[in-house]
Amino acid sequence: MECRICRSSLIKFLSLGSMPLANSFLSKEGMDKEEKTFPLEACFCNKCKLVQLSYVVDPEIMFRNYVYVSSTTKTFQQHFRKMAEEIAKEFGLDKNSLAVDIGSNDGILLKPFKEIGMQTIGIEPAANIAKIAEQNGIETINDFFSGSVVKEIIEKKGNADVITATNVFAHISDINSMVENVKALLKKDGIFVIEVQYLMDTIEKMNFDNIYHEHLYYYTLTSLANFFKKHSMEVFDVKRVDSHGGSLRVFIKRAEDKRKIKGSINKLLDYEKKMGVESIDLYKKFADNVYSVKENLVSYIKDIKKRGKTIAAYGAPAKGNTLLNFCSIGADCIEYVVEDNELKIGLYTPGTRIPVVSSKMLDEEMPDYILILAWNFAKEILEKTKKYADQGVKFIIPLPEPKIV
Ligand SMILES: [Zn+2]
Repeated sequence: MECRICRSSLIKFLSLGSMPLANSFLSKEGMDKEEKTFPLEACFCNKCKLVQLSYVVDPEIMFRNYVYVSSTTKTFQQHFRKMAEEIAKEFGLDKNSLAVDIGSNDGILLKPFKEIGMQTIGIEPAANIAKIAEQNGIETINDFFSGSVVKEIIEKKGNADVITATNVFAHISDINSMVENVKALLKKDGIFVIEVQYLMDTIEKMNFDNIYHEHLYYYTLTSLANFFKKHSMEVFDVKRVDSHGGSLRVFIKRAEDKRKIKGSINKLLDYEKKMGVESIDLYKKFADNVYSVKENLVSYIKDIKKRGKTIAAYGAPAKGNTLLNFCSIGADCIEYVVEDNELKIGLYTPGTRIPVVSSKMLDEEMPDYILILAWNFAKEILEKTKKYADQGVKFIIPLPEPKIV
């Protein structure tokens, strides 16, 4: 196995087994068919320091028909509104500025950019999601980001002042070509802003459930800085944000752009160095912790079942499927999963085959326990379900160790 970025050989440090794609929810008819599974293993490149999966699933299978709709949660709507406002203010963007969002989903980030008065265009490969964006009034190209899409945008709108890619930079296998396309689309003094889940948060908080086939890369600032340098680009500012249990918002410019490099960069690079991100030891230790977290969670759930209690789950996010499949927690343990995203209701979780239902089910068959799989929205979920807590339902956050909240 070789690093997809620098071609050095990879060191495998974690195996979560072979499992179906985390977003491949099953319809009732699909339950008769055997599910396709793919190995889910994390590796480390000792040369460019990038953590990546060993196996890449064809993006046509993963992203052409998608069930994740960004605007389902208020938390994310607020997050992206604030992000758009901050970027527009800091970089003096106005009605003459063009924002391009890669993997724009339902337009969650472009909507506030547009409301500020900026020009916007989104690129979204999932036809069903791109349609939702268009219905929301957000111009969207229904395709993968590519050289020909860049050409199309330049012809239509000119070069971009800001290109954003939130929660997609880990999803694209060939980030070498991607970043060259970004450079072709960006104005000379334009900026590229990405948000990626932060591997140091994953390690510290044991949020290993964010490892699934869609996430091909697990970034540190160290690996990102190495990567962009190779492409004559430079990270010039970084912020730690709360999304997905801890993410980085990284600001990138062309190397020749004279913009100042902020102190935040060296500060975070120093921290990572101290934590040992450049050595395989850190990742091996993380893997050991993952295996022991699994043991704890499984015995915790078994213990509840032994006492004759019922458990439902709240939220059917992709990461929940990593956790359920890795721990083999299936329909024999969990009665049903409540979900607010209508695209998932009526389906079954991949691999574990638990029915996904609307929140009305909680009134019909109130469980004794609710396992919060969408733990990054725990606050929002606990507020929405307060009446069940008042009636004695106990809520469990699974990671880093099962805890009643
Ligand atoms: Zn490498």
